[in-house]
Amino acid sequence: MEESEVYYVGAHVPITYISRVPSTKWYTHSLVYQTKELAGKVLEDLISPGQIVVIKVHFGERYTQAYIRPIYVRKVVDKVKELGGRPFVCDTLFSGGRVLRDDGGEPVWSRRALEEALLTAAMNGFTNETMGCPVIFADAPKGLSYKEHPFKGKYIDRVYIASAIAEADVLLSLAHFKGHDVMAIGGALKNVGVGCSSKRGKWWIHHNAKLTVNPSKCTGCGECLRQCPVGAIEIVGGKANIVSELCVDCAFCIDYCQARAFTSRTFPSIEEQEARVGESAAGIIDYFKGKAAFVNLAMDIVPLCDCDAFQGIPIVPDIGVLASKDPVALDRACVDLVNASPGIPGSMADEAKVLEPGAEKLNTIARMRWKATPGATHVAPDWKVMLQAAEDLGLGKQKYRLLRMNFGYPPKSIEELFESYEA
Ligand code: SF4
Ligand code: SF4
Repeated sequence: MEESEVYYVGAHVPITYISRVPSTKWYTHSLVYQTKELAGKVLEDLISPGQIVVIKVHFGERYTQAYIRPIYVRKVVDKVKELGGRPFVCDTLFSGGRVLRDDGGEPVWSRRALEEALLTAAMNGFTNETMGCPVIFADAPKGLSYKEHPFKGKYIDRVYIASAIAEADVLLSLAHFKGHDVMAIGGALKNVGVGCSSKRGKWWIHHNAKLTVNPSKCTGCGECLRQCPVGAIEIVGGKANIVSELCVDCAFCIDYCQARAFTSRTFPSIEEQEARVGESAAGIIDYFKGKAAFVNLAMDIVPLCDCDAFQGIPIVPDIGVLASKDPVALDRACVDLVNASPGIPGSMADEAKVLEPGAEKLNTIARMRWKATPGATHVAPDWKVMLQAAEDLGLGKQKYRLLRMNFGYPPKSIEELFESYEA
């Protein structure tokens, strides 16, 4: 089986570079600069002058800590411009999920609708000014805007791509690689499979049934009816009822129901959700017909998702930045590097007793999280499922060749740089 190429810039820089590089060129050994050049490496043959390039990023949520630092994104924007492309940076909206509460108990929504989402992005450092290009939510203003693309997977037969992403000529996924409580990992496949989907797409990845109302909990207040963007809710006999033919799976109604009456949702098994994410990524990348590239920042490798407010201590030291045209190989390389690393004392890797280099950290920690959740002890996330589902659909390969890169000054091999360190 042929291998895919994964380019890699390590986070570590030997101390001896200080004496070997003129101070005016020190910046070229910054990981920010190296990320810019690495993105150029996988993008340069994809962009024709004047083409629109979407840079898909997760902007984080309110009060979260471990999303990508904005400066990395800004420099990738600059590289896209250097290559003649017209970039925009985006995330997508999300409803029906986790909600934070402030000191007064009021819900704090991060990405439910455009104005809330733009505020979240700005608070976390992503604005038109900081990025030097438009910063948008690709399915805004309500998350209802998508392009449907048919696709033949085992579980899904279409994807719902956020409209602005679907209108771009080239897709660049710029993802933060870390652990995840459902998928065990968050990287390129998740940033595309879930992150590039509109609200409807997200719904169908995580659920296999239409939303219903539990009449024993519904008070008939009518708030969901007022909020539903398509008039798909009626009150029958004092209880809300969803007209499923009209419902567009936006999950807005869940957000507004004080009685939490939307509890009868049916989730596929975790295994099926993992496979659906891999399939969704394959479907969305199929839409771009080869005009897609992927960069993972394997830094601040926290055990849970970027949307978790409590991130804890990173589980392994920073690894660096990786890039590829193959998102399966890219995510697999990140998994292997994380698992090969020593764990950080005091982190969840320590708690899960997987500090040893080579120990399976990501699955073990994700499973430990569910074991600690009452009623969910049977949930066993496994990153292999998502990767295998994507590989089975021809998206990429888990077999890869890691190519260490150094874009720093003076132009020399990374081996030479490290030799001087080892001497
Ligand atoms: S918002 Fe909740 S409680 Fe009110 S009508 Fe809708 S489902 Fe019932
Ligand atoms: S009933 Fe309305 S608000 Fe609820 S998911 Fe369907 S379309 Fe959205």
